[in-house]
Amino acid sequence: MQNNPHIQEQLEKWVEENRGHVVLGTTAQYIPALGNEDPAQLGICMIDEEGNYYAAGDTEKEFTLQSVSKALSFIAVCCHYGLDYVLERVDVEPTGEAFNSIIPFEIHRPNKPFNPFINAGAITVSALLPGQTPQKKFQFLLEFLEKLVGHPLEMDQEVYDSEWQTSHRNRALAYYLKEANFLDIEVEEALDIYISQCAIKINVKDLALIGLIIGYDGYNPITKERHFSDDIAQVVKVLMVTCGMYNSSGNFAAHVGIPAKSGVSGGILAAVPPKLHSQTYAFRAGAGIGVYGPAIDVQGNSAAGTMMLKQISKEWDLSIF
Ligand code: GLU
Repeated sequence: MQNNPHIQEQLEKWVEENRGHVVLGTTAQYIPALGNEDPAQLGICMIDEEGNYYAAGDTEKEFTLQSVSKALSFIAVCCHYGLDYVLERVDVEPTGEAFNSIIPFEIHRPNKPFNPFINAGAITVSALLPGQTPQKKFQFLLEFLEKLVGHPLEMDQEVYDSEWQTSHRNRALAYYLKEANFLDIEVEEALDIYISQCAIKINVKDLALIGLIIGYDGYNPITKERHFSDDIAQVVKVLMVTCGMYNSSGNFAAHVGIPAKSGVSGGILAAVPPKLHSQTYAFRAGAGIGVYGPAIDVQGNSAAGTMMLKQISKEWDLSIF
């Protein structure tokens, strides 16, 4: 099937309609290199199961994965060790606290981090990546992602340096993890891997493709390649729904209803599984969505990006609920 011009027109219209919502957010100031981005940007890419891409708005821009990487390192680690091994070391429970909070540790003294999408869980997962050195662990993740997107990827050194110099809270969190015996490697090594993975450069097209693969339970319907198993995909989608959009995950599930993971760079990775009983003409066989809008709201999600996804999901009946 060819690209559907109607879908393309609609997407372009909805980007322009939602662009005004960028004023509801600001760029992430706590990582200086992200704070300098132009907050007015908004772009989206959607891909269907036949490989048709639809892109509208600021789609050429490269940005860093930030927290979106948490979903991907979790998948990579599960692929290597199996789900059971990883779930013995990190749980799948939402916290209701900020993503970088130390409170759950102090109050609950859990026997493992609550989930891989809060920083404590993500740093734990990064440290688990296979490899004898931080460089090899990071390389493992990078190669896993390169296989998903089908081309080389690289890290943004400026964003890495900027976060490395200012990540006092993550350093504090990592010391908690070390004290609780959740880290088998040194604090500075775990932080290095985590901050490196957050600084991997990506664009909305790559995010859309990864979203499609997650929506298809680890299978790429375009290349007919399986990248990870159904049971890993199932847990990742649950995490995306329950914890993927920070402390707006409940609202996002209610009003958008698409498994998604966002990051403070303003990226959103969304996975629309097939929904064959849907009445709509668009994306009944599922889709991957990549969004970029660096003006983020107080929760940490792209302000205009989430509003746009709400509209798209409603118009095209993409909610899984
Ligand atoms: N590197 C960021 C941090 O740890 C990622 C945060 C995010 O995107 O939620 O603060």
